[in-house]
Amino acid sequence: MKNISYQIKQRNEKITLPEKLGFGVYFTDHMFEMDYSPEKGWYNASIHPINNFCLHPATSFIHYGQSIFEGLKAFKTVDNQIQIFRPDVHIERMNNSARRLCMPELDSEFVLEAMKELIAIDSDWIPTKRGEALYIRPFMFGKEPVLGVRPSRDYKFIIILSPVGAYYPEGFEPVRILAQDKYVRTFRKGMGECKTSANYAASLLAAEEAKELGFTQVLWLDGVEQKYIEEVGTMNIFIHFKDEIVTPKLTGSILPGVTRRSVIQILSEWGFKVNERLVSIQEVMDAYDNGTLVGVFGTGTAAIISSIGLLSYKDKNMVINNGEAGELDLKLFNELTSIHIGEKEDTHNWIFKVEKKEILV
Ligand SMILES: *Cc1c(COP(=O)(O)O)cnc(C)c1O
Repeated sequence: MKNISYQIKQRNEKITLPEKLGFGVYFTDHMFEMDYSPEKGWYNASIHPINNFCLHPATSFIHYGQSIFEGLKAFKTVDNQIQIFRPDVHIERMNNSARRLCMPELDSEFVLEAMKELIAIDSDWIPTKRGEALYIRPFMFGKEPVLGVRPSRDYKFIIILSPVGAYYPEGFEPVRILAQDKYVRTFRKGMGECKTSANYAASLLAAEEAKELGFTQVLWLDGVEQKYIEEVGTMNIFIHFKDEIVTPKLTGSILPGVTRRSVIQILSEWGFKVNERLVSIQEVMDAYDNGTLVGVFGTGTAAIISSIGLLSYKDKNMVINNGEAGELDLKLFNELTSIHIGEKEDTHNWIFKVEKKEILV
C-alpha cells in the first residue's frame, strides 16, 4: 500500500494561533488515518479534515485496552524550514509497543512519509516562538466489535497534530517531585517499556494524590521492592552525582525515552561519565546527605529538560541546588532546543526535513 487519498479543507482566511497554546488543546485542520485487516494489511490511507469517529460500543480497545501511541515534535527553523526530531526512532518504538500488545506493525517508511505529508499540509499551524512546537500524536487501537478476550483482528492507525506552547513560558522553572511507595506504575516483564494507554491509567491516582500535596509529579519506584528509581511521570530521570551522571537502566519497566537517548549521547560527547545502572532512592538520599548530589532532572518530548528542585520521599524533603535550575540542565535544554530550531547544526542525523508544498488534489 503506497497511496494516500487526499481531501483538503479549503480555508479562506489565514490561520492565527492563539497567544496561549497550552498542551494538546488545539488541533490542526487535518488528520491521517488508515485501517488494518489481516486480509488486506494496512489499507484506506487518507489525509482528510479532522473528524469524530463513530464506533460500535463493543469496539475491543475500549474494553481490553489495545491502544498505543507516540509523541514527537516538528519545528519551524530560524530560516523558516520545517523539521521533525527523530521520527525514525519514535516509529521504531511504536512498532515495539505494537508487538508487545499483539498489534500489527507499521511500515516505518510509509508512516514517515504520511507524517511528513500531513505536516506539510498543516504547516501554517506550526508555531514559531522558541519553545513552541507542533506536537505529533500517532496512535493505534483495536477496532473489532467483539467482546471475546483476544487480540482484535482489525485496527486503526491515526496521526493528529497539535500546536503546543512552551512548557516554561515564564522561564525554566524547577518542579517538585514526590517519590512514593503506595502505588506502582508497572513492573519488570510488564508493559512499562511500551507507550500504551494502560500505563497512564495505572499512574493517574498517584499523580492526583501527589498534586493534592503540592507536587508536580510522581517519581516511580520499581514495581517489586519499591527500592530503585524508575522514571518521573512522563519523563525519564537523570541523577547528577559528583563523579558520574546516572540514569536508571532499561530493565523493561521503564519507557526508553528518545530524549533520554539523545541526552546520554550529548553528555557523553561533552565528556561526562554517564552510566545506565540501577540506582536506589537510598543512594540518592545518601548523596544528598553527604553533599555529592549535584542535580536531578527529567527528560521527555513535552518539556525536553525539566529541572527537579525538590524531591521528597517518606518524610525527607531534598531541596536540590537551592531549588534552582541546574547549570547543566539549562545547557542541555538550550542545546536540544537549538538543534530543534536549526540554530545548531544537526551532527547526529536526528533531524528530518519536511518539504513544503502547495497542495494539490
Ligand atoms: C513518552 C514517555 C517518556 C519520554 O519519552 P520521550 O521519547 O523522551 O518523549 C518517559 N516516560 C514515559 C512513561 C513516557 O510515556
